Amino acid sequence: MQLQNKEECLDAFIEKCREHNLKITPQRCAIYKEIFNSEEHPSAEAVYNAIHKEYPNISYDTVNRTLLTFADIGIVDIVRGQSGPRRFDPNTDGHHHIYCVNCGEFFDFYNEDYDNLKIPDDLQQKFDIIGKRVVLNGICKQCKKSKS
Ligand SMILES: [Zn+2]
Ligand SMILES: [Zn+2]
Repeated sequence: MQLQNKEECLDAFIEKCREHNLKITPQRCAIYKEIFNSEEHPSAEAVYNAIHKEYPNISYDTVNRTLLTFADIGIVDIVRGQSGPRRFDPNTDGHHHIYCVNCGEFFDFYNEDYDNLKIPDDLQQKFDIIGKRVVLNGICKQCKKSKS
């Protein structure tokens, strides 16, 4: 899903749920809102921690399963290529990541040159390439500040 304004996104979310016969419950909306409002590509645990005060009956398991369901139907992406707990991305639009090796945050960026990266011939022969996402490693502004 492309990141538009919040209302539109919620509408799109509700539509996607309907399309896939997923019941729209307040919990599911809360999980979606939490991940959409977060700029941190949160883990299931982070989402759980953020909403369980408001929804004390929700279990970590439910949050995790819901996020996986969202990923299945294309509402969120799973961030790949890093160790540690699975992280979710509300931005399913083609974009790239820069990963802060200090605090473990992912930051989104767009870059046309990277979108157009040429896939080496030998890889193309061995694999069906279904997507391109560049992940850069670095140290974010915040971490740089606190280090100096
Ligand atoms: Zn950082
Ligand atoms: Zn992202």
